Formats: sequence, structure tokens, C-alpha cells
Amino acid sequence: MKNDSGKKVYIVDDDLFSLKLMASLLVRHDFPVVEIYQDAKLVLDVLAAEDGFPDLVFLDLNMPGMDGLEMIRRLGECGYSGGLILVSGQSERIINSSAELSRVHQVNIIGTLKKPVNTDALSKLLGKFKSHGEVVVKRECHYSVDDIISALEHKQFINYYQPKVSMKDGTVKGFEALVRWAHPEHGLVYPDQFIYLVERYGYIDDLTKLVVKNAIDDFKVIGGRDKLQLSINLSMLSLINPGFMDEVCRIIDAEGMSPHHFLFEITEGKVLDDKRQPLEILTRLRLRGFGLAIDDFGTAYSNLDSLNDFPFEELKLDRKFVHNVSQGGVNLEFYNATLSLARRYAMNIVAEGVEHHEDWLFLKNTGCDFAQGYLIARPMPMNDINSWLMQWKEQFSIISLKQRG
Ligand SMILES: [Mg+2]
Repeated sequence: MKNDSGKKVYIVDDDLFSLKLMASLLVRHDFPVVEIYQDAKLVLDVLAAEDGFPDLVFLDLNMPGMDGLEMIRRLGECGYSGGLILVSGQSERIINSSAELSRVHQVNIIGTLKKPVNTDALSKLLGKFKSHGEVVVKRECHYSVDDIISALEHKQFINYYQPKVSMKDGTVKGFEALVRWAHPEHGLVYPDQFIYLVERYGYIDDLTKLVVKNAIDDFKVIGGRDKLQLSINLSMLSLINPGFMDEVCRIIDAEGMSPHHFLFEITEGKVLDDKRQPLEILTRLRLRGFGLAIDDFGTAYSNLDSLNDFPFEELKLDRKFVHNVSQGGVNLEFYNATLSLARRYAMNIVAEGVEHHEDWLFLKNTGCDFAQGYLIARPMPMNDINSWLMQWKEQFSIISLKQRG
């Protein structure tokens, strides 16, 4: 077996016997740099003080004080870029939900282990971890506040655009602006690598303003733009500052564009924690004629009554519920529940991440209003929009033909 002595591993478990057993198993698997912690809080202190993350963390779910679930959230918040393996004696259902929670927090989950840990299962996961090395390295970029300020100053953030189309007749409703960092050394950097940092460093308002300005400039060269709507992702943090949206509205107004050209998307979980200020700001946006959508629906546990308090006109169902929805199972149940919720509150429903033709047909036939996803188009640079628009009619008719076949 290849020697992985360069890899740093943390084991977090309140049970000393488990810790020692796991550490000895890892040493046998050529992972000799193992640090053990009985207290999750201590790990966070170490992570905050150290320069660089461990490569892999084994995390027990049941611990007194800070439990594994809170630890997962905190790892996500600090942008932990290594791998995570959950270890627990709990039921499979609880372990699976915890793994899903890791994904929601964008923590790179390698897998789960049931206690008592079986050597074969551990070997398999370590093999998977090694083959995921590339992914882990990719997330290791940790940009400083100066990197972000410089990127904003030099306008290195650019928009890609993904179309949203009517499932009924193929009409292009608009495009979602998706920010990318055109990094001079690293190439195109995706938002999961920097948005949490921009938020943490306090520059999210500046980034959103740049996204809006770029979208306005790009929009000017799109054919038939009067009928199209631009979707802009808004951070909840921007809704805490009462003056921010006024500023955005001034930018839009100064460019002679109408509020009807814009729709703001707000991610579900974040919107409902403290709703006083956001409720006022979002309601005012609707009064002015802007569109509002609840984004990535299904990734948090919403209070549905609160959802009704916000004037959303559109609900974007998260891709993980859309994928293989035509095959039934939990995704279908969630889709059906979401569809009836959207109807009850008079919201349009948008399926995110539509990739398979079977899912497209199923969604269309069950009354889903709009779709976005690779089946329609991947996010594209502004220069590709006109040519995509020109061929879309034909692409849509092919999808429709398949339906009749
Ligand atoms: Mg969005």
C-alpha cells in the first residue's frame, strides 16, 4: 500500500477506547499522523489557530457538549476542505441524515462507518478517500481578504448565465446570473470556493452589486431582452442592511431598466431565522415590481407558515429532489408535497438541475412550470447566449418529439 504519511488525520470521539482503536487501525493503514480529540470544541479551536486543515476527520455523532451535527455545521462554516468520515453506533437512518447534512453544508463527506468499526469497511473508505484526493486538493484554496478585495477592484468576478424555460411551451423566461471568479492563476473558480469567504469578510454587498452591474451590461447585447428576466442570487446578509437594496434599485433605475427585468433568489434556510428586516425589504421589492424566488427549496427545514409570510412568487426546487424524480421514491413524495405547497401559495415552481429526459417529461406532465438544468443548457458565458437562444426552439422541439415517441 502507498505510504500516506503526509496526510494528517483527526479522530473526534468522546470514547477513549474507540479513539485508540481507530488510531491503531489507521496506523496499520499507513496513516501515521493521527491526532485524537475527545472534545469537538477543542478541534475547532485547533482549526482556528492552525494554518491549514487536516486531510481527513473521523467524527463521532454522539458526544456530550458539542455533538457531531453541530461540528458538521461548524466545519462547513469555516470552509473545511478535507474529507469527513462519520462514525456512529446509531441507526442507519440517523447516520444517512447526518451524511446528508454534511453535503448540505458542503463538507466533503467520504462515507460513514458503523460502530464497532470493521477493518474491511475502513479499508474501503480509505481507498475512496485516496481516490478523492483531487477533489480535496481543489477545495484547499483558502483565499485571504486581500485576494477578495483585489478581485473586486480588478473586476475579476464575472457572470455565467443559465436559462430558465417554460416546460409547457419552451418559452425562455430568463437567465440566472451565476458568479464565477476569473482568477488570473487558478482559472475559473466556482462560487463554493469563495462565496462563504466573501460573506465572512464582509464584502457580499460589493459582490452582489458587481453581479447586478455585470448582468445589466451583458443584458444589453442579448437579443429580445425585453421579454427576459434576470435572476440574481441574494445573500441573506444583504437583507440585514436596510440601505443595500435601495442602492441596487438605484443602479437598475440609472441604467433605465425596469424592475420587471429582475428576480431575486433567496436561499430557503437562511431566510426564516429572523424575518423582521428581510420581510420589510422583500415586501418592498415586490411592491416595486421585482420578482422574488425562494431558492434551493428542500435543503433546509422551513417553517412553512413563515414561508407564506414572504411574498415569493416562485419556488425553486433543489436539484437533489429533481434528479430521478420520475423513478418514484422519496424524491417523488417530496416533489408532490412541494407542488401542492406551491399551488396553495400561488407560486410558480421551478425544477433545478433537470438532467434527464425522463425527469423532464415527468415534471412537465405533472404541471411543473419551469425548468433549469443541463438538459436545457449548462451555465454559459454571455457570448454564448445568442447562439443558444437561436437553437433552443429546435432543441425544445426535439424534446417534445421524444415525448410523442
Ligand atoms: Mg439560485
